[in-house]
Amino acid sequence: MAENKFDVVVVGAGFAGLYLLHRLRKMGLSACALEAGGGVGGTWYWNRYPGARCDIESMQYSYQFSDELQQEWEWTERYAPQSEILKYAEHVADRFDLRRDIVFNTKVTSARYDEAEALWVLEDRNGGHTKGRFCIMATGCLSVPNRPNFKGLETFSGPVYHTGSWPHDRVDFTGLRVGVIGTGSSAIQSIPVIAGEAAHLFVFQRTANYSIPAHNGPIDAERVKKVKANYPEMRARAKTTLPGIDARYNTASALEATPEELRAEYERRWQEGGLTFNGAFGDLMLSKEANKTAADFVRAKIREIVRDPDVAEMLCPTNIIGGKRLCVDSGYFETFNRDTVTLVDVRSTPIEEITADAVRVGGRDHEIDALVIATGFDAMTGAILNVDIVGRDGRRLRDKWADGPRSYLGLAVSGYPNLFTVTGPGSPSVLTNMLPTLEQHVDWISDCIGYMEARGLASIEADRDAEDDWVDHVREISDAALKTTTNSWYLGSNVAGKPRVFMPYLGGLPEYIRRSEQVAADGYEGFTLI
Ligand code: NAP
Repeated sequence: MAENKFDVVVVGAGFAGLYLLHRLRKMGLSACALEAGGGVGGTWYWNRYPGARCDIESMQYSYQFSDELQQEWEWTERYAPQSEILKYAEHVADRFDLRRDIVFNTKVTSARYDEAEALWVLEDRNGGHTKGRFCIMATGCLSVPNRPNFKGLETFSGPVYHTGSWPHDRVDFTGLRVGVIGTGSSAIQSIPVIAGEAAHLFVFQRTANYSIPAHNGPIDAERVKKVKANYPEMRARAKTTLPGIDARYNTASALEATPEELRAEYERRWQEGGLTFNGAFGDLMLSKEANKTAADFVRAKIREIVRDPDVAEMLCPTNIIGGKRLCVDSGYFETFNRDTVTLVDVRSTPIEEITADAVRVGGRDHEIDALVIATGFDAMTGAILNVDIVGRDGRRLRDKWADGPRSYLGLAVSGYPNLFTVTGPGSPSVLTNMLPTLEQHVDWISDCIGYMEARGLASIEADRDAEDDWVDHVREISDAALKTTTNSWYLGSNVAGKPRVFMPYLGGLPEYIRRSEQVAADGYEGFTLI
């Protein structure tokens, strides 16, 4: 690393960055990863809030590039907690000896393409410069916390935590009055745990959310044995499903089912738990009427669980189910039966101000000792644009993406040669099981670099036309989709001033794999290689 010049510079040492280092090293290339955090794991390094765990089952939310790894690693719970996923990332870093190529505590601030030298030059917050023929942004889709500008926040006298940037030391809420702002996945996981400690918990809810019980518990040893005996088959099946998760997806129409059939299928999936609830019928995300049958079922469950009918009504979502990402919880709705938990509606009257010791809503002070901000992320583009990326002719990516991201396959951007994005906007990424999806991107990018090396090619750049066609294709699918009718971070609508563009590719994982692999098989059609 002495001369700070590599074949490839990777930004980020989360799951994508780790696998990239492994692949590139195996290809005989020199590579280094610059990581803002003090350790590996990305999302799972930062999101240490109470109750944090994956909403995809452990046996599927894992790498498949090494059969030895997937055979030897033992998950302990059906849905792995954050601490175990972080241990897994650390194990991978050690097992494949990746740490020697990672520079920690190094936040990249800019990346400029030096056309004369055909090199990317990355500058970091420590004043360091690192050069690479290729630059790969492995910065994750949910890695920049969204911090709304709450009036008076700086005057609050107690501690303030953001779920997406949680302290490493355990935070003890015992005996404290705590406020949680937000009711997305992060809040829904942390609220039951915080409520178990706090003297009183105020939940400030702007939009009620759908959540399905996780029914988490110790992992079923029989299932582990079965999966491990047939891992490749399970991985292959997963790749044929829209979200890349091996599960039972019912293709039948909810509109053609009898009320008894609807109830039986939803009840079965509610009891099974987890995200695949939305796979109950084939048209839930195609027809509002079909969607309503599932939404009504969940609303009825909320009314059954929550004893106070007014609170139950406040917790019943009114938008479609699956518009925002479905949440998976452990005792979320039950938490509102505690005398020590108060739900505060901040839709009809938004948070006015945060004072030294309270959150003020509609002129009323809710007194708290600690505040948890669970307001999510500047998703998909946030981490990429946090780096000032300057391509050919001095063009800033921030300018190019001012009206929304433009990318070819979510992998490359016209005007930015030899720059790749892993799970970038325009790829299925966040709508799928991220681990296998990012592996597919890392494989595609590594194979592409291998193709260039074998032919002595120095530069690859997405063509403007190919990029325009892909952006149009992504938009056409989104425009027709029910999913895009709900405000969500997929649309950027959660961040003030962010352009309203549905960012991920809604065409499903199989179609995306088919198209991206076809591009490669056709000699990287839509790219110019020199
Ligand atoms: P999120 O889904 O964006 O939720 C943010 C919450 O904060 C929403 O309830 C939002 O209300 C609220 N909010 C934002 N600004 C507000 C304001 N000014 N005043 C009041 N409320 C405000 O963020 P997240 O919960 O961190 O989850 C983001 C994504 O991360 C998830 O969808 C999921 O993909 C991933 N995640 C996964 C897991 C898991 O694997 N189990 C766990 C956590 C997160 P509105 O809805 O009204 O905007």
